[in-house]
Order: sequence, then structure tokens, then C-alpha cells
Amino acid sequence: MRIFKGTAVFSGIAIGTVSLYKKNESKVKRIHGEDAETEKERFTWAVEQACEQLGKLYDKALTEVGEASAAIFEAHQMMIEDDDYIESVEHIIESQKVNAEYAVACTSDNYASMFQAMDDEYMRGRAADVKDVSNRIINILKGEGMQVVEGDNSLIVVADDLAPSETVQMDKSKVISFVTRYGSSNSHTAILARTMNIPALIKVEFPEDIHGKTAIVDGYEGALIVEPDEEALEKYTKKRDEYMRRRKLLQELKGKENVTRDGRKIELYANIGGVSDAISALQNDAGGIGLFRSEFLYLGSDSYPTEDEQFGAYKSVAEAMAGKKVIIRTLDIGADKQADYFGLEREENPAMGFRAIRICLKRPEVFKTQLRAILRASMYGNISIMFPMIISVAEVRTIKAILAQVKDELKKDGIPYKDIEIGVMIETPAAALISDELAKEVDFFSIGTNDLTQYTLAIDRQNEQLAHIYDTHHPAVLRMIEMVVNNGHAHNCWVGICGELASDIELTKRFIDMGVDELSVSPAFILELREKIREL
Ligand code: PEP
Ligand code: MG
Repeated sequence: MRIFKGTAVFSGIAIGTVSLYKKNESKVKRIHGEDAETEKERFTWAVEQACEQLGKLYDKALTEVGEASAAIFEAHQMMIEDDDYIESVEHIIESQKVNAEYAVACTSDNYASMFQAMDDEYMRGRAADVKDVSNRIINILKGEGMQVVEGDNSLIVVADDLAPSETVQMDKSKVISFVTRYGSSNSHTAILARTMNIPALIKVEFPEDIHGKTAIVDGYEGALIVEPDEEALEKYTKKRDEYMRRRKLLQELKGKENVTRDGRKIELYANIGGVSDAISALQNDAGGIGLFRSEFLYLGSDSYPTEDEQFGAYKSVAEAMAGKKVIIRTLDIGADKQADYFGLEREENPAMGFRAIRICLKRPEVFKTQLRAILRASMYGNISIMFPMIISVAEVRTIKAILAQVKDELKKDGIPYKDIEIGVMIETPAAALISDELAKEVDFFSIGTNDLTQYTLAIDRQNEQLAHIYDTHHPAVLRMIEMVVNNGHAHNCWVGICGELASDIELTKRFIDMGVDELSVSPAFILELREKIREL
């Protein structure tokens, strides 16, 4: 039995098998003099594996984002089964006596250049696809990516760090915990763990030989216990069962009101990252969706999700929530959330850089596609829209003008939509300080305390070295929240909180005293918060 200590970012107990996740950063090496037959067999095997992965991704995408989005995986499957592609790889292995990885990389480059040289725009776009499928084969050959332990459905994913674009691709039905060497409690892996309601640890120094071993994640004490002895296994199985019992007890609060003993009410909504999370929101009795992080639709894709794909996702959530409010936040990409096809330049200071609404206003075609999709989906439920990273009234006016343009275009096309509520996120000190002005422009505010704290305290939310002074209860942040609530209410604007602070039960009373109208939290926190509110 070996114990590795770390910091817990979401509590709970998980008992399962370690699945080591390796990043695919290393370059493909050309190894000369390989046995051609063996390399060809490796290649055939990797193609089979890739086809199986793509088949699974197709099924997953079909249920999560719909047919149009899933089709890409089918197209990728056809690409690697193409005779010319296979012959090209085999020819390079034979004629140059090189390893399969190198032959695949060469073929990929050749095909991509060929596609890029074509006149047809659609065919030029296939260059990215051929690179993507080839990388998949190379990763399989190199044993990179998530190393699935065959036949195991309880995986503890252990990694140096995980980017949102990586977690989004995982088969989450099998993941019961995340453990990372780096990362912070505000990182998106931590947020994802909370959404999935699974224990997660950061800052764990683990050796690589733990792959495939049985392990326990103690999300209370912050420990990863590898190859536990019988005594530990028994103790933790008991603890896990107790945790489950507690969750069951909380289920009894379903259907009850979020009301204090003295009769004050507050809305409890859920934060979600995709269509499948809406189920978790409903299971935990969320009154609505307070934050739909729409960028996850973009991160889960190899190219810009089309209007129809987005429409499908927004409509599914709106319908699933059956008339309950669904607040869709427009694209908040950049900083720690990167998608290669956006072609964003490397920045010295990404958190303060080209991200979120700044990208949308510079690339109106991307923004308008999303707005059209949201407006079209508004016919299927109770959708609101909100905009991230706002710093000025001028921005909000520009956004409103673009929204009006999109509505005009829809009208001209005879496509119906509703006049939905619009809101802004208050997540920069600038927005908080001018919230009296902003309140005149919109219907609601949602305070993003993760970024608001980061910018107010001038502490990068991802920087582990500064985690000890990232004081979530800092009076500056709490004063700003109170100020935003007062300014909002003075101008008929309701005010919610959707950052992680919303689920901090030490502050629930304070938020209610301030008059906060809504708290939007990871689905797993809703019933716990309801219990707290009913005790106040
Ligand atoms: C926030 O900043 O508090 C927020 C909710 O947005 P995100 O965590 O996605 O940046
Ligand atoms: Mg934010």
C-alpha cells in the first residue's frame, strides 16, 4: 500500500482503477531499420483501435449533441479506412524501413498539403481532419492519451494536468475521480469534478507505475491510496457507503422550497457544461440552469460547431428543463480554455488577453452564429442569454446592436424566436464598479466570483503558488458583491452568483442578507445548499 498526499478540490470517496493520462506532446521520431512486417501489423492494429474509438465517440456525440455533430466521427472513420491512405502508410514503412508512427505522420503531412492546395473550400477544410485522425493513430501507437484499463468501468484518471479540451473528450461514464499533479482548486478540472459529483485531488506527486492498479481517492483528507491493504479497503468502503447514504438523505429535500425559517426565498440553479449535465441538474432538483458554459460545445469539437449543432444542444437543454430558466452564456474561450481551430496567438497574459466577449466582438461571424442558434432555441423553453467578461457600457450596447441585427435577419428569414432576457456577467472589477450603469442596460446580473476574485486580488486563479492568498472571502470581493446587488436592484435588475463562491455554505446567510436573488452551483451542491438555507 502506498499513500500519496494532495489537496482535495471535491469531497467524496472513490474506489477504482488508476488510468494514467499522458499528453500527446512529444514529436514523432523517425526510427530507421525497423522490421517492416511488424510495423505494418502495428499500424493495422492501431487503425482498428482508432475505428473503435471513433465509433464510440460517434455514439456519444449522437446522444449528447446530435447527428450533425456526430457525423464528423463517421467521416474520420472513413478517412482512415481509405485504401489510398492505408497503402501510402504501408508503402512508406516498406520503402523507407521506418516505424509506423513516422509513416503515418508523413502520410498525414502529404495528404494535408494536398487538401490545402485544392480550390474547393470544403476540401481545404479536410486537411485538419486528416491531421486529426492521423494523430489519433499516432497516439495509439505511442500509447498516449487516456490509457483505458480494459473492462474497467471505475477509472481514477491520474494526469499531470488536464485541459478542458482533454476532459471533454473522455468517456465520463467510466470516470469516478480525477487526480492531477498540478492545477488549482479553481481550475476547470476541479469545476468539472464538482459538476460530475466525483472526488478530485490536485498537487499529488505520483509515480507512473501506478497505472492499472487498484486505488482509493479520499476526497476528504486529500489522499490517493494505491494498492490498499484489506483494512484500508474495508474502512473506505464503509466511508463511501456513508457518503452515499448522506446523498440519499439529501434526496428527501427534493421538491422542497429554498426558504429560510423567516420566510426569505432564493433561487437555486445549476451550472452545466453540456447537454448531458442537464440530467444531473434535474436529478438534483435545480430550479433552472444559471450558467450553461457554452464554450464546452466548442472545446468538444475539431472545428466551429455549426448553427444547427448549437441549436440542437440549446434546444435539448431548454426542452429537458421544461419551462425552467436556462441561462446560456455566450462563448467564453481563451485563457485556460483553448481550441486550436480558433488559431489564437500565444499571449503573455492570457487571463487578461483575447478571450470571451472580446473574441466574439472581433469575430462577429462566430458570435452571430451562436446568437442565431440561441434565439432559434428560445422557442423551445425559457432561455436567457448572458455575456462574459464585460468591462464597459459600450460593449453591452454593441452586443445589443448585434443581437438586434440577428433578430432582424431571423425575421427576414421567417424564423421564429422569443424576446429573451439578457444579462451580463459581473466578473471584472470594472463591471462591478459601473454596475449602476450596466443595470440600466440589462435584465439581470450573474456574478462570476472566480474571475472577479482573480482580477480583484490580482491573483491568477490557476497559479498554485498563490493559492494560499487567493482568499475567496476577501472583504474587497464581498463588498463588490453587495454593491452589485444594490445597484442591480435599484434598476430592476435581478442578481445571481454563478462562480464557485455561490456554493460556499459559510457565506449563504450573508448572500441572503445582501438580497442575492439566485445562486447557481454545480448540481451536486444544490440539495446541500437547500438544507443550509432551510436551517437559517
Ligand atoms: C466565474 O468567473 O466565476 C465564472 C462563473 O466563469 P468561469 O469559471 O467559466 O470563468
Ligand atoms: Mg469567468
